Amino acid sequence: MTDPAWLDEGLEHIWLPYAQMKTAPRPVPVRSTHGTRIALHDGRELIDGIGSWWTAVHGYNHPYLLDAMRRQLEVMPHVMLGGLAHEQAYTLATRLAALAPGDLSKVFFCESGSVAVEVALKIAVQWWRNTTGQVRSRFLAFRGGYHGDTFVTMSVCDPEDSMHSLFGPALPSQYIAALPVDDGSAVDLDRMLDTHRDIAAVIVEPLLQGAAGMRMHDVETLRRIRAACDRHGVPLIFDEIFTGFGRLGGMFAATVSGVTPDIMTLGKALTGGVTPLAATIASRRIYEAFHSDDATKALMHGPTYMGHALGCAAANASLDLFEQEPRLEQVARIEQDLKSALEPLRDAPQVADVRIRGSVGAVELREAFDVQAMRRRFIDQGVFIRPIGKAIYLAPSYTIDAADLASLTAAIVRTAAG
Ligand SMILES: *Cc1c(COP(=O)(O)O)cnc(C)c1O
Repeated sequence: MTDPAWLDEGLEHIWLPYAQMKTAPRPVPVRSTHGTRIALHDGRELIDGIGSWWTAVHGYNHPYLLDAMRRQLEVMPHVMLGGLAHEQAYTLATRLAALAPGDLSKVFFCESGSVAVEVALKIAVQWWRNTTGQVRSRFLAFRGGYHGDTFVTMSVCDPEDSMHSLFGPALPSQYIAALPVDDGSAVDLDRMLDTHRDIAAVIVEPLLQGAAGMRMHDVETLRRIRAACDRHGVPLIFDEIFTGFGRLGGMFAATVSGVTPDIMTLGKALTGGVTPLAATIASRRIYEAFHSDDATKALMHGPTYMGHALGCAAANASLDLFEQEPRLEQVARIEQDLKSALEPLRDAPQVADVRIRGSVGAVELREAFDVQAMRRRFIDQGVFIRPIGKAIYLAPSYTIDAADLASLTAAIVRTAAG
């Protein structure tokens, strides 16, 4: 079957993500989605191994999510949050505050993960100014981290292993350290925080560094970071844009690890993958520094579509689904299935590492490979899997059934052991 006309016409005008437009493979036209399947224009179906960039945790087109959005559309697609209030954003803030651990309870909404991280970093800088008058404007981040594609978020990504190196000279310079793990490479976080009194906050993707290749670290690493931040009074930011909403088997990496940050960012699965929405949640302690009779102590940020009503309706419905359907049990089952299917690859000569936690399973190969060619081979096998770097990974919808998951892992086994 020939491709639809809109594809050829649109390819003349569209600029695609992370793509060299001249050599990028032709994107595969999609007709529709349902469950964990992507129906293609040519009639084939792909089993989705990554849930649309890790967002579609309830599967595609979940009727409960769609109904909630239809109802909201009838009432009010959106009304601005400046000076006006609507139920969906206020209810969502209350529910997120109740779900988030510790005293994380003040919720600032925006539209994308990168902006949620920008807001977290702004809050940290201004927190120092509001509490002590100090100008602290740099951040400590970790190798292997990814926090977004805007300018300041690029500056806290891994500087070497990143697609942003081109922008190096244009980015504010930050402190980038190795994660404190027990391999002898750990930097002395205490010394860094003590020496560099311009560090406003420490930012980390807790337990799982996603975009840099599904690298995992243990709870002890987070405890050490938390302890160093506490000793120096420096706020700790967890970027839970990927790890939030059940991905690692608990609602947040903070809940799984028992380590609570001062600021947390959420995005991706917040709406169950149906509309863009993100949030930055600050602790009451951080927030108190902004709560003042002094107007200059206010947080000056306000995205146009802040607290988008349709998006918040989807997010509220998504939280309902976490209550009504056994999502976390599903993640536990996925983890078991990933382990039994992928762990044996550890012995394959081409395989450098197998990493599994919650609904994320990654097989890292020893040698670099042609990522585009591999993506194409997966599509030919009826699965949608997009390796990053040397890692072939799955981060599926939690609703995926055992047979579809087995098809995904079988495709990886054929590739990695073949
Ligand atoms: C995806 C992601 C972001 C960026 O989110 P966008 O919505 O793409 O801007 C930031 N941090 C982490 C950990 C992410 O996975």
